[in-house]
Amino acid sequence: MIRKTRLFTPGPTPLLPAAQFAMAAADIHHRTPEFKALFQKVLAQLKIFVGTKNDVLLLSSSGTGAMEAAVSNLTSPGDKVLVLTAGKFGERWRDLANAFGCEPVVLSAPYGQTFDLAEVKKALTPEIRAVFMQATETSTAVSHDVEGVAKLIKEIAPDALLVVDGITGLGTTHFDVDGWGIDILIGGSQKAVMIPPGLAYLSVSDKAWAAMDKSKNPRYYFDLRKERKNQVKGETAYTPAVALVAGLGAALDYIAGQAGGDLEKGRIALVNNAIVNAAATRAGLAALGFTLFAPTAPAAAATAVAVPEGMDSSDVVKALKTRFASVIANGQGEMKGKIFRVAHLGFFDFLDTIALLGAMEHIAKDTLKLPVQWGQAVPAAQRVFAEAVHSS
Ligand SMILES: *Cc1c(COP(=O)(O)O)cnc(C)c1O
Repeated sequence: MIRKTRLFTPGPTPLLPAAQFAMAAADIHHRTPEFKALFQKVLAQLKIFVGTKNDVLLLSSSGTGAMEAAVSNLTSPGDKVLVLTAGKFGERWRDLANAFGCEPVVLSAPYGQTFDLAEVKKALTPEIRAVFMQATETSTAVSHDVEGVAKLIKEIAPDALLVVDGITGLGTTHFDVDGWGIDILIGGSQKAVMIPPGLAYLSVSDKAWAAMDKSKNPRYYFDLRKERKNQVKGETAYTPAVALVAGLGAALDYIAGQAGGDLEKGRIALVNNAIVNAAATRAGLAALGFTLFAPTAPAAAATAVAVPEGMDSSDVVKALKTRFASVIANGQGEMKGKIFRVAHLGFFDFLDTIALLGAMEHIAKDTLKLPVQWGQAVPAAQRVFAEAVHSS
């Protein structure tokens, strides 16, 4: 049997071939009219992809660079900020806030769950300068209620800034960035936009720009005001990851092409694709006897699954790799061995979902010794898919 390598990880995700070709052909210098034209085109596309009238900046860094930029550009030492955390990436906000001398008030939810909005409301005191959260907590595959938190901020702490790590939320979640009032929304290249790691993008509201003038934290490479001055001219402050910018342009063209060239509609289709594949995966794996790790607020970006007591999720990860050359993600930190995670964000379609469920039937039977009937997982996924296509 031959085996095709397949990534089912929530970053990096599978690469779009058209983007790979564009990257290979991107033999251009960044201080030329050719790059400027490409960069301006991609920045305009990103605004539509994020769905905002705010400025959108592109940084040559992984997603965490943009998270750091949000903290360093918006805060000053001693600032009280609210960090909502329910996993490894929420904990990153806490650590970044500490690193830049903020005094984070940390509201946590247990792994696998989301926050109680009543608790968020209590924590939103008038001194809170900014709220940091994830749209989707990739480490537990939980989706958080960004709209609910945004409403609370408008209601009771209107001066506070809302900063959202949408690194796996963008392309898997419908946002109304300007309507809800998200001041900074961050995305990363190796997630829903189908290209390799190395770029981060973020939308920045007028309120956030105003806050930057007052912030006293140090910044240099990630000085967003300097970056903005350059990017309005189609330039970058430093040497950008030129090939990735070319790849991103090709990927956004592809997403637009899924809806006849309309990028906004293409984005909506991409989000709905993730939603349907996530629901189909949950249904299929539940039918196989697995327990969903985040049943109350599952993300469309990825699905986290608990293995039965006494079993090790590392065995599932290893067996899929060895037998089917398919890569899924283990749990992170203390969840390693307890859960595995399957991604749906970016360049995944329903046939990928069916393939994974088919392989999982073998793993459940042979590796986990569960009582499996062939075809046990697939019909549940088929029903979800059929319902979604007939109702749209
Ligand atoms: C992947 C991810 C990050 C980290 O991004 P890097 O590109 O690894 O720096 C941050 N937040 C979330 C929710 C993620 O999924």
